[in-house]
Amino acid sequence: MRVMIPSLLLIAFLCSCSRKQPLSHSNTDSFNAAVDTTLLVGTSTHISQPPNAPKNMEIDYEWETNEGTIMADESGAKYTAPLHPCIASIDMRAFLQDSMIYHYSTKFLIHKQFVILKADDIIYDKKTILPERWFKFIQLIQSRHAKAALGIIGHYLDKGDATYCRLLKELDASSTFELWNHGYTHSVGGSALVNPELPSEFYLTSLEEQIMHLYKTQDLARQKLDINLHTFGAPGNAIDQNTTFTVESCPDIWVWFFGDPKSNTVVLKRGGEIEFPTPNANFEEFSKRYDPNRNCYVYQIHPNKWDDQQFSEFTRILDFLLEQQVTFINPAEYYMVIKKRNDLIIEEVITGY
Ligand SMILES: [Zn+2]
Repeated sequence: MRVMIPSLLLIAFLCSCSRKQPLSHSNTDSFNAAVDTTLLVGTSTHISQPPNAPKNMEIDYEWETNEGTIMADESGAKYTAPLHPCIASIDMRAFLQDSMIYHYSTKFLIHKQFVILKADDIIYDKKTILPERWFKFIQLIQSRHAKAALGIIGHYLDKGDATYCRLLKELDASSTFELWNHGYTHSVGGSALVNPELPSEFYLTSLEEQIMHLYKTQDLARQKLDINLHTFGAPGNAIDQNTTFTVESCPDIWVWFFGDPKSNTVVLKRGGEIEFPTPNANFEEFSKRYDPNRNCYVYQIHPNKWDDQQFSEFTRILDFLLEQQVTFINPAEYYMVIKKRNDLIIEEVITGY
């Protein structure tokens, strides 16, 4: 039975849970500083002259880039990206009688295709801290200079020792990994699609319970890891209308994996698969469906369930994606680059990708 909690009580609860704290980790901050926006390889955009640039008939403006081409025009410059992914620096300098009086600099992330790896179910192991397969996956991602988003389960933060917490913190602080909120209990019964009568942690449970569970993991990550988690994905992707309210109530959550498409949060849609079925990573099935023209793929994977054969299939997939020159990106980074673009583009992300 669903129990609706009185709205005043709910507001008080949300206020106590959603205290905004500055980001304590640096990975998304440094990424944010590194690029200002994104552009598809081989495409052009207009860069307006900065509003605070000095304007005077006698001033000469010079535009320059280390990647692609740039042509000055009356109101700024037309920039064309190269055909390969890279980070392009663009500089504009203003000269008055041969003296530089102003310098503007911006960076574009030039991409062919974004790939987000949604790696589920980080757990604590008393003997080895993380299960061996998780270490194997982490090393594989690091060795290929790829990226992956690691779903943590709240109750393991309760159980985990200081070494576990330190390890998670280090992973998140690197620009390679982003930890995300994968619920507290991770109980999975049914969903709207499979066994719809059975409840899961965020399906057929009360609003009060869902809020408690989402915020509990947020709070544990703050207390034990000193991290604000910015991405959420429900266990089993099992959600209902209460989940939409719960996720939207949490200002720290920017991105929702496979969430309600009508939500105000940036929802990343499930577009391609690596596992056929879960958790069977399969290169042949993956490559049959792969479309190089898609803007962004979000792949769900379960490395802790892979045997050696499935690891080698995933390694083939990873190497294939690298050959395609994809740009691996984590969800909070993705949010940060798209939010600098206009609302239309953000709308595309929610509905079309
Ligand atoms: Zn899971």
